[in-house]
Amino acid sequence: MAGMFDETMNGLRSVIDSAAKRTQDAFSGSKNYVERAKLRSTLNDYYRRLGKAEYEAAMGGVSSMAEINAIIAKITELRQQMYAMEQSSKVQRGGTVTCPTCGRLVSGGDTFCPGCGTKLQ
Ligand SMILES: [Zn+2]
Repeated sequence: MAGMFDETMNGLRSVIDSAAKRTQDAFSGSKNYVERAKLRSTLNDYYRRLGKAEYEAAMGGVSSMAEINAIIAKITELRQQMYAMEQSSKVQRGGTVTCPTCGRLVSGGDTFCPGCGTKLQ
């Protein structure tokens, strides 16, 4: 009787463990999705600011090249963050990543590039 109870408990425990694992995966996936959506909206905001600054500069208004360059630098930074986030979500999904050294497409799970030996992640 006690043996059967243990078996039931062990079965239950593994069901709970795998459910917890799934919840964790779904959570990290949705967190990444939210972060990317936030980043995308910030990026769009900077594109709008850039358009406005360019317009004002063209009209001989208040915008200076320094302001425009600062916005462009921020956009470049945001795009790099977005790229890094997309690369890491590809790794999580087990897809492919591009080797930063030789440009070869490498399986997301690989630690080293099979083409040039660069350490990935
Ligand atoms: Zn490589």
